[in-house]
Amino acid sequence: MVLKTAENKMQSHVERNPWQMAMVQLDSVAAKMKLDPGIKKKIAHCKRALIVSIPIRMDDGSIEVFEGYRVQHNVERGPAKGGIRYHPDVTLEEVKALAFWMTLKCAVMGVPYGGAKGGVRVNPKELSIGELERLTRRFTSEISIIIGPEKDIPAPDVYTNPQTMAWMMDTYSMVVGYSAPGVVTGKPIEIGGSLGRNEATGRGVVYVIQNAFKQLGWNLKDSRVAVQGFGNAGSICAKLLSDLGLKVIAVSDSKGGVHCDKGLDVSKLNQIKAKGGSVTEYTGNGVTRITNEELLETKCDVLVPAALENQITEENARRVQAKLIAEAANGPTTPEADKILYDREVFVLPDILANAGGVTVSYLEWVQDIQAYFWKEEDVNRRLQDIMDKAFQTVYEVSKKERVDMRLAAQMVAVSRIAKAIQIRGIFP
Ligand code: GLU
Repeated sequence: MVLKTAENKMQSHVERNPWQMAMVQLDSVAAKMKLDPGIKKKIAHCKRALIVSIPIRMDDGSIEVFEGYRVQHNVERGPAKGGIRYHPDVTLEEVKALAFWMTLKCAVMGVPYGGAKGGVRVNPKELSIGELERLTRRFTSEISIIIGPEKDIPAPDVYTNPQTMAWMMDTYSMVVGYSAPGVVTGKPIEIGGSLGRNEATGRGVVYVIQNAFKQLGWNLKDSRVAVQGFGNAGSICAKLLSDLGLKVIAVSDSKGGVHCDKGLDVSKLNQIKAKGGSVTEYTGNGVTRITNEELLETKCDVLVPAALENQITEENARRVQAKLIAEAANGPTTPEADKILYDREVFVLPDILANAGGVTVSYLEWVQDIQAYFWKEEDVNRRLQDIMDKAFQTVYEVSKKERVDMRLAAQMVAVSRIAKAIQIRGIFP
């Protein structure tokens, strides 16, 4: 009896790696769309995956070797595109899943790219700035055989930033012998970056939240927001939402979180982070410490997971109290949790739509680089908003027509565009 209970428990909580989770998602979208099995097979494989070792000289004179990956999932609709993450938990399976989601993300946004992702299995917090630069340059040189402005264009992701992109752009340029700003996006403005790119992911999340509230007839003002993860996407999203009059009542980072019923001062949180601190250092009247898990279950209207994959699972999905979830992170919700949230009528803005502002402005940056002609920030933001509004509307209409959640609707829009490209191009030879 005891054994049976334990067994049931094990079976009821499905543990999958991100690639397996992505393939479960592909199964549902293919079934719903009655997708051609051959096309499905093609999408279920990554086009190309490169594993590299990255030896670097550490500051103390010793040699350390890290493992890195660049995966191109699909290039039917244009060059491969996607960020590079530095994290101790990076695996090939994770990078493959993230590359798959990039293919879908670019397709749902109508941005003319395929999908890619890269990662290095490293804890960047343990490296000095010099070690990070050497790691980035050696990694770039190792993957330079498959990246390029017309082939595959990296960008920032978890624990990488404009400085990382500057080193990548410089290293690639040294390899080819001329300056190639279009090889990466999310660069500093001084070397061909775009105004508005740094804020683009957070801004895009806000645009889709605004669209959803309008569509659902809800009032934004005074709505309560909880944000898990206070990196680029989470912190900017929190700032923009609080500027719009929403109350940010809980935030967290890798060290834990803080909660305050009256609302947190987002500028103060940003000051702490700018000094290299953690949001857990935030103090004030009515402020309490919470864990990352507690944050997900906080009483709020809008929950923004802005950290890593696999956060909202069948284990905690029933306890989520938000009425809307906007996925600033990639892959934060498991397929089992999706079902629970749908039954509970929680409106989920899926990652491939909600956080697509980043890659959308990456595309605008790349277009500016190619023309060598740069736009005003308001022009970039206006184009971003047009693209986000249109994508939201398209996905929302499919979700109503097909009676499916927003994730399945977004995947249906994306997969039908990718499938059409595959059919039109045909299979070589
Ligand atoms: N890393 C971001 C993402 O996951 C941006 C990718 C890009 O701009 O290419 O969408």
